[in-house]
Amino acid sequence: MLNIRIEKTTAPKTKPTADNPLKFGTIFTDHMFIMNYATGKGWHDARIVPYQPVVLDPAAMVFHYGQEMFEGLKAYKSDDGRVLLFRPDMNAKRTNNTNKRLCIPEIPEEDFVQAVKELVKLEQDWIPTKPGTSLYVRPFIIATDPFLGVRPSDTYQFIIILSPVGAYYPEGLNPVKIWIEDDYVRAVRGGIGEAKTGGNYVASMAAQLKAHEEGYSQVLWLDGVERKYIEEVGAMNIFFKINGTVITPALNGSILPGITRNSVIALCKEWGVPVEERKVSVDELYEAAKNGTMEEVFGTGTAAVISPVGHLRFQDQVMQIQDGGIGELSQKLYDTVTGIQLGKIEDNRGWAVEVK
Ligand SMILES: *Cc1c(COP(=O)(O)O)cnc(C)c1O
Repeated sequence: MLNIRIEKTTAPKTKPTADNPLKFGTIFTDHMFIMNYATGKGWHDARIVPYQPVVLDPAAMVFHYGQEMFEGLKAYKSDDGRVLLFRPDMNAKRTNNTNKRLCIPEIPEEDFVQAVKELVKLEQDWIPTKPGTSLYVRPFIIATDPFLGVRPSDTYQFIIILSPVGAYYPEGLNPVKIWIEDDYVRAVRGGIGEAKTGGNYVASMAAQLKAHEEGYSQVLWLDGVERKYIEEVGAMNIFFKINGTVITPALNGSILPGITRNSVIALCKEWGVPVEERKVSVDELYEAAKNGTMEEVFGTGTAAVISPVGHLRFQDQVMQIQDGGIGELSQKLYDTVTGIQLGKIEDNRGWAVEVK
């Protein structure tokens, strides 16, 4: 149990109004959580302070060797005024899996969840309530030793910031166009693809720009070895419904294990929809698109929840997914996941966690 000191702001910001469309990740709340780590001392000095710049030595290791990690989850307000988080224990677990890979000290799961809860509780008036909006929670850790040499840092900061957000994709629940990348790769097995860290994102930017120039909103990555098997989209895992079966690439070490992915698989199983976690090749997708068995394609991630895909392109071949509308299962998954997140649907799985 952390002993969190709270220093409140004396200059609260103006909150966005309900009819102001919230551009994802541009507005931040009044406070942030910080906790320090030092070898020998462990995690210490947990505090919530006014939102402010982080002052670091220019030699801080995070700037030079990229030793950093991040997480993402959302807080919602239910119609009856409860503040809910979606499976925060999963983010805590994933944090420690990421930390192990990046040689960052682990944080006790209950401390991670407590820190998120206390900050969200203090900032609950910032949770927007319009449909499709929420309070995005961004925990992250940075290596702070002022040292120009390659080794794990001895000091870190764990910080949490909050941002009221609307739809992640300007398209909302409308199908996105996805570019299957055949030149750049995002990650390889044995690398850091399954860790949630900035390094994976900087590796993806050149392809993202290329896709944007071609009129595509997202990149779908292939495996880094054979460049044949589907991995995932920039910030989403990917699912295909082919001939009644839901298929998603198996977690193979280079794919980020999404919490939305995990939830979608669990729901499909509950509903009796066959689900397969396995290798999926681009060729298989083409075949399915050509012979009319490709029923739905959708991405899953905290930011967009479920994002229908209407169009895929690989080299010069284009796959149009059905009529470009939202599939029945995609819609049902979206309604169910967001229903649980908003406390509208009864949750017997312990996924919606109340902040009290
Ligand atoms: C965070 C992330 C996802 C989605 O994970 P969720 O837990 O569902 O939000 C997928 N891919 C990448 C690369 C990510 O960073």
